[in-house]
Amino acid sequence: MKKDTLLVHGGRRSSGPVNPPVARASTILFDDLATFEASRADRFSGLRYGIHGTDTLFALEEAVTKLEGCHRAIIVPSGLAAITCSIIAATKPGGNILVADTVYGPTRAFCNGLLKRMGVRTIYYDPCINSAIAELIDENTCAIYCETPGSLTFEVQDIPAIATAAHEREIPVIVDNTWATPLFFDALAHGADISIQAATKYLCGHSDVMMGTVATTEKWWRPIRDTVADLGFSTSPDDCYLALRGMRTLAPRLRQQHTSGLEVATWLRKQEGILRVIHPGLQDDPGHGLWQRDFTGASGLFGIELATQSAHGLAAFIDTLSLFGLGSSWGGYESLVIPARFERLQRPFHLRGTLVRLHVGLEDPSDLIADLACALRALETASASEQKP
Ligand SMILES: *Cc1c(COP(=O)(O)O)cnc(C)c1O
Repeated sequence: MKKDTLLVHGGRRSSGPVNPPVARASTILFDDLATFEASRADRFSGLRYGIHGTDTLFALEEAVTKLEGCHRAIIVPSGLAAITCSIIAATKPGGNILVADTVYGPTRAFCNGLLKRMGVRTIYYDPCINSAIAELIDENTCAIYCETPGSLTFEVQDIPAIATAAHEREIPVIVDNTWATPLFFDALAHGADISIQAATKYLCGHSDVMMGTVATTEKWWRPIRDTVADLGFSTSPDDCYLALRGMRTLAPRLRQQHTSGLEVATWLRKQEGILRVIHPGLQDDPGHGLWQRDFTGASGLFGIELATQSAHGLAAFIDTLSLFGLGSSWGGYESLVIPARFERLQRPFHLRGTLVRLHVGLEDPSDLIADLACALRALETASASEQKP
C-alpha cells in the first residue's frame, strides 16, 4: 500500500471508535498470577506497566512502523530523546561517532557534553563528504550520524554513499529525517539503519505536542528500546492520541507546504534585500541534484540570507512580519520565522548578510508573500536610515 493509505489506516481497528481512544494508566491489573507472570516475558509488547505504553501508544507505534516500513518503531517523549537514546545505544566508551557538522544544535550539545562524559569521542565531518567518509572510519568508530538536509544551512547528504562506506565496516548509519519525514525521504530504503523523526514537527503537525520516533532495522530495535526503558522515558497516551490524529493528515499538509514553500522561496529569490535563498528544491541549490534523486518532496522549512548585517535591520524585518510567528520549532500548520545561529567546524558557512529561517505553513502563499514584502520594505527603510551620516 502507498504511504497516503498507510497514514490513514495504520494503527486502527475496523470496529469501535474511528480513532484509538486514550488509555491512561500507570497500573495495569491482571486477572490472576499466571497471566501476570506471563506478561514478564516481553515487557515491550502488550500491557504490563504504563511506563512502557498502553494501547494508545501501541496503536501509534504500529502506524509509524507501517509508515517507515521498519522492523518496529519506538515512540519517545521528544525528538531529542529519539536522538540521544539512539546514539547511546549505538556507541560505547572508548569509541567514536562521526557526526555531520550541520546537525541540530542540541544534538551537538549532547555529543560535546554528556556523550563525551560517557567516554565517546565525536568527530564532526563535512556533510557533503559523500563516500570519502570511509577515510574517517577507524577501528573505534561505532556509528555515523547524519541529518539531511542539515539544520539551518540545508546541505543535502548522500545517504546511500555514506551507508555503503559504513556497511562495508559493519557500522550503523543514523539519520535525523525530521525535515522530509518518511513521506518525502525513505531513510531506511536509502541505507539508514536508524531513522529519527522529531514527531513534534510534521508528524504531530499542530504545534501542541512534544514527541520523537525511532525506526530501525531488526538489529537495532532492542538496544534502543532497552535504552529508552533504562532511562525511564515514557510517552503520554494523550500525546500519542494527538500524534495519531495529526499524522492522518500528514500527506496533504506536507504536499501543500512543499508547494507553498517553493512558491514563497521562488518569489523571495527575486527580491532586493535577499542575498540568497537556501532551499534544496530550487534548481540552482547545491543540494538540488541529490534532493531530486533521493527525495519525493520538500517541507516548508528553508533559509534566507537578508542583505543586512545589523541587528536593527534584522529586527525591522522580523518585527514587521505579522503572519510569520517568532518562535522555536516548526512543522505545524502555521508560518514561523527565526534568526539562524549555528556553529561549524568542518564546513564553514560564509555569510555576507544575516541568515534567517522561515517555515511556510498552510496559509495562502499570496498572503505570506505580501507579509514578506512589507517586512522587506521595513528592512530597506531601516538600512537607509543607518546609512545616513
Ligand atoms: C526540532 C528538531 C529536533 C528535536 O525535536 P524536539 O521534539 O524539539 O526535541 C531534532 N532534529 C531536528 C532536525 C529538529 O529540527
